[in-house]
Amino acid sequence: MAFISDGQKNALLERFLRYVQIWTTSDSSRADSGFQPSTERQFDLARLLKEELEQLGLSDVQITEKCYVYGRLQASDGANVSDSFCLLAHMDTVEECSGQNVKPVLTQKDGDTIISTDGSTLLGADDKAGIAEIMQTLAFFKENPQIKHGEIEICFSPDEETGHGMDNVPLNLIKSKQAYTVDGGNLGELETECFNACKSEIKFTGISTHTGSARGKMVNATVMAANFIASLPRHEAPETTCGFEGFFAPMEISGTIEKAEVTVFLRDFSTEGMENRKALIEKLAQTTALIFGGKTEVKHTFQYANMKNGLENSPQTVQKLVNAYKSAGIEPIFPPIRGGTDGSQLTEMGIPTPNIFTGGHDFHSRSEWASLNEMSKALEVLINLCSI
Ligand SMILES: [Zn+2]
Repeated sequence: MAFISDGQKNALLERFLRYVQIWTTSDSSRADSGFQPSTERQFDLARLLKEELEQLGLSDVQITEKCYVYGRLQASDGANVSDSFCLLAHMDTVEECSGQNVKPVLTQKDGDTIISTDGSTLLGADDKAGIAEIMQTLAFFKENPQIKHGEIEICFSPDEETGHGMDNVPLNLIKSKQAYTVDGGNLGELETECFNACKSEIKFTGISTHTGSARGKMVNATVMAANFIASLPRHEAPETTCGFEGFFAPMEISGTIEKAEVTVFLRDFSTEGMENRKALIEKLAQTTALIFGGKTEVKHTFQYANMKNGLENSPQTVQKLVNAYKSAGIEPIFPPIRGGTDGSQLTEMGIPTPNIFTGGHDFHSRSEWASLNEMSKALEVLINLCSI
């Protein structure tokens, strides 16, 4: 069991405050157009982390052309290196809320230090809390050479918030067969399950005529698209579901009399449930076209998969983490992620990657905050995980 001293806690806090003050907002439209990093400013944090990783004695430290920071901590002398793993956290913050000129505010509450902002920006605990916890873990082992650890790889990624965080992950550098993202929220949460995700694009084709002489001739694609959306089950929408319930989320609608297009995101935790959702979309589109006398075409595009299946093939990866939680006196809880993570993409690439809590809260908002006590617990979990 690791003991987190006041000195360690203060060092963790200082690190965190240093990182959140570096502006790293990403840009999803640039990321969607293929630019990585989507914003050059993410290199500012990358360069600082590279320097600090070198000071902490890691080897092979580098920033890739696409702004991934990589480094490797060699195993302690005589330690078994067979089951190394990679720790990941993302450097960018979400664009919906400003991340420039973050001014952290510290409040003492019930023996805890709460870190928030002055209300004009987000805090960036998502995911700089994760970065600070990983870096402090490395510092802990440097200061406590008597505590043995295995080989640990580190990867800090750009553009997670744009959904492109793993587009150019340096798999040529990462040798580990398993990984952990440090990108969760509440104390004790251990995330092993996320949505299956599919994007459905539904096209309607109508017949255009002059509106004055349209009777019996016009087939209006815009009306078909509106009808199609209205026919989706209201109780299976993002705003009416929670927990393990899936949904249909109409994301975009556009059209004219001749052509209209609808984009719907499908989300479901089970593979079978996802197949049923795709089938329902096709059926509703065809029924709509039939009623109005138009045509329809449906295209489904896979987005990401529930990481549960990949993790079930590697139970030791999750078990190791459960043990690390328990050694820190934490009983893990397993909430479903109603979205995807870098970990779900890595799992799909064959590197099973569950997600660890960070002690950050109210992500993506100006009321975002973090608890130093909870962050210290995450640090303890990471030290336990790496220790032998
Ligand atoms: Zn995050």
